[in-house]
Amino acid sequence: MPMRHAVAARFVGLAVFAVILPGLLLPQSACGQQRTNSSRAGRTAAGPHIYKSTNFHVMTDLPREGAHELLERLETMHRLLVAYWGRRNPRPIEMYVVENLDHWPREVLRGMEQQGLESLRNGQGLTVTRVISQGNRFISKAVVYAVADRGMPQHEAVHAYCGHAFGASGPVWYAEGMAEVGQYWRENDKSVTASAYAIRYLRNSPARPLNEIVNSPLETTGDSWQNYTWRWALCHLLGYNENYTKRFKPLGLALLGGRRVNFWQVYGTQAQEIEFEYRLFLKDIEAGYRCDLCSWDWKTRFRNLAGSSSVSARIRANRGWQASRLRVRAGHTYRFTSTGSWMLSQDADELTADGDDQGRGRLTGILFEDYELSEPFELGADGTFTAPQDGNLYLRCDDAWGEIADNRGTISVNLILEKETAAAPPEPNSP
Ligand SMILES: [Zn+2]
Repeated sequence: MPMRHAVAARFVGLAVFAVILPGLLLPQSACGQQRTNSSRAGRTAAGPHIYKSTNFHVMTDLPREGAHELLERLETMHRLLVAYWGRRNPRPIEMYVVENLDHWPREVLRGMEQQGLESLRNGQGLTVTRVISQGNRFISKAVVYAVADRGMPQHEAVHAYCGHAFGASGPVWYAEGMAEVGQYWRENDKSVTASAYAIRYLRNSPARPLNEIVNSPLETTGDSWQNYTWRWALCHLLGYNENYTKRFKPLGLALLGGRRVNFWQVYGTQAQEIEFEYRLFLKDIEAGYRCDLCSWDWKTRFRNLAGSSSVSARIRANRGWQASRLRVRAGHTYRFTSTGSWMLSQDADELTADGDDQGRGRLTGILFEDYELSEPFELGADGTFTAPQDGNLYLRCDDAWGEIADNRGTISVNLILEKETAAAPPEPNSP
């Protein structure tokens, strides 16, 4: 094993003599996700070459153009990782990125770690992080093995970065969830960019309980792409939702620093809120969904109406459900009026709260009660509605969940109590 690693280290021209210290092998990540969007088909055969950028030394049999594109994507991701976690990668990350193992000379394969080679043969990724001595100090040294499927080299490179920068990658849910977040990261873009099959899977599956994600001793790294998808969903939500993002980075840094802290210590007091928003995210998720814009408003106070008093709220077209301030009672009828206009994209037509001919852009309501939501119901520019249940009324501009970010405009909504007795029909023959 030490010899093999020394060979691996030599191919990228590292001027260190790598002594492997037995027993100092850090937790490794074997990422057994079978990718469905393989890029292997239709390429010409080529042997491996070494390509270098500031932070990555990659040996790959990808065609030259593909290899340079990969380096570019890795460097972009590295910039985002450094910006997020605030630590530089101290030394180049060595990577084997394999399109077709048959094109690799035997002496190179012999230079790989056995586990790494096995992972590649199984179409999986593996990052081996070791503590080695360099001069008179110890450093972490990561080597990545990944097949050349689109996201896998980036996923593994996140593990390698964490290994180099922190000497650890945290518990499985965080390590793998953040490696997936890193894989999907795009600069200045908070939207969901996960693969179509991952989104479909989340939408069509019963929500995995949070505790099963963050606290299951049975789950190990490299278990299944489904488990990876749940971990990604949780990390993405916590990373972008405005209610949780502030605590998420310190939690991550504590986990990476090996401190004794866990998910529930940090989020225990918000457990019900997170559970609610997590289920909502899974229900509405689609490409382009924005957790930040759909963060739930837990702060605004709601109130019942009596007599001729009213409540009003300003509803933005480019956000998810927003607090109306009105608490409704089952059977009571309320009158709503609105002023203003909004647009469903930068240069689309201005619409009132009635929306367009197809009902897109219409003011829509939903009732929140005990961390459950009613079915949404259409309102419009003005009219009345009778509450089917008790609850806090939330409002939004109806639009595809993945397309709200480019909406413009705000509509002011006023609500008054129309009739308190709608639930009880009047007596026959009453005046
Ligand atoms: Zn992984």
